[in-house]
Amino acid sequence: MMQEMWTILRILNWTKAYFEDKGIESPRLDAELLLCAVLGMRRIDLYTHFDQPLEKEELAAYRGYVMRRAKREPVAYILGEKGFLDYTFAVTADTLIPRPETELLVEKILAVTADGPLDILELGVGSGAILISLLLKRKEAQGLGVDISEGAVAVARKNAKNLGVTDRSEIIVSDLFEKVPEGRKFDLIVSNPPYIPKKDLAGLSPEVRKEPLGALDGGEDGLDFYRRIVREGMAYLKEDGLFAFEVGIGEGAAAADLLVQNGCGAARVFLDYAGIDRMVLAAKEGTTYADKIMETGN
Ligand code: GLN
Repeated sequence: MMQEMWTILRILNWTKAYFEDKGIESPRLDAELLLCAVLGMRRIDLYTHFDQPLEKEELAAYRGYVMRRAKREPVAYILGEKGFLDYTFAVTADTLIPRPETELLVEKILAVTADGPLDILELGVGSGAILISLLLKRKEAQGLGVDISEGAVAVARKNAKNLGVTDRSEIIVSDLFEKVPEGRKFDLIVSNPPYIPKKDLAGLSPEVRKEPLGALDGGEDGLDFYRRIVREGMAYLKEDGLFAFEVGIGEGAAAADLLVQNGCGAARVFLDYAGIDRMVLAAKEGTTYADKIMETGN
């Protein structure tokens, strides 16, 4: 009997069942994304070529991807990239994968800041998604991004180059403010630091546990980095500057409190799509940013 051919439709159906069996959350979508990468197609093209048979080399490449995904490696690491706002960022296992919630943080910062010069510091720059997106949206802005991970810094630099912002960005290895020149002051200090409470780390999905632990582990209560950043950071913020954090579930009030106690009296928590505390923005009372923070919609 002739062996049945692997067409696009047949292999998608097979992979969906296989991924489902492995406990993968979006089996069909993941199968489509991996197949698109192998075939150089868009998802819509798969649907108009359901009967197209796969070539031997395509099958082999796809199989390799499917094996990796079955071991719960995130799709973004397999593809080496992730979309964030209007851009595509290179990612590796050295960087956290940019999340849709983090797009909200960038959008909130854009809602509060005006066009014109803006000196930005990002702590824990990772792939560079936040800093580079801000630079792309604010053409007169410039930024310093730091990360303790050399691997992450290499990825962020590559993204800065690919996306054309090397002339307005500097990305360096630094443990928070360690290598940030003393006396330098910023209009905006932004961070999506590690914020998962230690006790929650073991319960994360297998995919998240493939991400760098150093980008997730926020210490006992998840707030370690906010404490350090707020304590050390006031000296690096201009009088009329803005702090912007991503925070984890239930951490908004505590992070806002830290900011208030350290001089940023106008602090506000914003929610994500799921109604969860996700961002904290803060500035000193009486500043333009203070007004903007209080005026802006959730
Ligand atoms: N958003 C990530 C998660 O939910 C955590 C990122 C972080 O710790 N900053 O897995």
